[in-house]
Amino acid sequence: MPDNHTEDGLPDILLDILRCPADKAKLEYHEEDDTLVCTECGTAYPVEGNIPVMLNPKHGNEEE
Ligand SMILES: [Zn+2]
Repeated sequence: MPDNHTEDGLPDILLDILRCPADKAKLEYHEEDDTLVCTECGTAYPVEGNIPVMLNPKHGNEEE
């Protein structure tokens, strides 16, 4: 039996490294909607296939 309870979602090490680009605060993984949410400003970053997409915060509907 694998002694590893982080098989779902993002590994803790990743959460440790990742910071909100805006304020360098820590991020929190929200499993229910697959987003990383900044503990400081509350910006949610989508996670696609276990890869956090830090360039497209779900702030609004901006598209360039
Ligand atoms: Zn932030």
